[in-house]
Amino acid sequence: MQLLFAAMTLYIGVQFIRFVNSYADPQAAVWVPRPAGVEAFLPISALVALKSWLVSGIFDTIHPEGLVIFLLAMVISLVLKRSFCSWICPIGTLSEGLAMVGRKLFGKNYIFPRWLDYPLRSLKYVLLSFFIVFIFILMDGASAYAFLQIPYNMISDVVMLDFFKNLTIVGMSIIVLLVLLSVVSQNFWCRYLCPYGALMGLIGVFSPMKVRRNANTCISCERCTVACPNQLKVSEAQRVWSPECSGCLNCVKSCPVQGTLELTTSSISSPSPSSRFKFLIITPQRGAIAVVVIWFVAVAAAKLTGHWDTSIPPEIYKVLIPRIDQF
Ligand code: SF4
Ligand code: SF4
Repeated sequence: MQLLFAAMTLYIGVQFIRFVNSYADPQAAVWVPRPAGVEAFLPISALVALKSWLVSGIFDTIHPEGLVIFLLAMVISLVLKRSFCSWICPIGTLSEGLAMVGRKLFGKNYIFPRWLDYPLRSLKYVLLSFFIVFIFILMDGASAYAFLQIPYNMISDVVMLDFFKNLTIVGMSIIVLLVLLSVVSQNFWCRYLCPYGALMGLIGVFSPMKVRRNANTCISCERCTVACPNQLKVSEAQRVWSPECSGCLNCVKSCPVQGTLELTTSSISSPSPSSRFKFLIITPQRGAIAVVVIWFVAVAAAKLTGHWDTSIPPEIYKVLIPRIDQF
């Protein structure tokens, strides 16, 4: 699953670079089409688009795919907790790869002590709060709509690419630091800094799906706790409520006693511990199928209803992209 989405991201990235290069070339005779998927990397624009949509009822036509992906990630969080992070997000996949490198080099990933871990974990909520307050409280609906129409927002994806192509020493240093921290500490970015993950984690708390442990059959081997990439004490919980749970199912896969640990709906009312796990269990296979089906059905629906491709005509790109230095 992760490799599939990482490959799709890579393909979109290559296509997007070709698109920008073709529009930046004044001699170009053939213009490469823009891959809409690049808008998945514009979460702030998506948040503003959400505000504008809620206030005006007008679905963003500048970066509609960005808003669709944002809504999709939130729906997936409500259904399957933060599984977007562990199954789809290419940054999460990269983060896991870097952590594996760390384990190869040092034999393990470093776990910060609690007195440091807690304040660091709160950073992503602080960042999320900043965006929520600024966009949903301080910005009015008309301003949100107006922001979506300005040239900067129209080519914010091109600006982002330009930023990475012309990295300053400061930008490069921050990226190198994040890479090194991700090698040493598992999921450093996701655990401590990603506001998108913070929002999905909070929504995931309301998901009916929870990792549930059958205390009657549990042998307290603690393999689940060791396997959890988010350092949750699964072996001590009846039900994992934490917003940090990314629904990765590593704990479930590591449990040696079949039927003792499952990702399952929390609305089971059966008093029998052995029968309650029979209701709507999400195995890794079912989870993968569910995420793929939700994802591609939503994408197909967005395409069919005209909520996927931007309304920006090629003529605008021909004017704006050669002037990228001015943004
Ligand atoms: S290992 Fe289990 S508890 Fe930990 S994040 Fe994954 S699904 Fe959640
Ligand atoms: S891995 Fe399974 S048996 Fe071992 S502590 Fe966790 S839930 Fe209990």
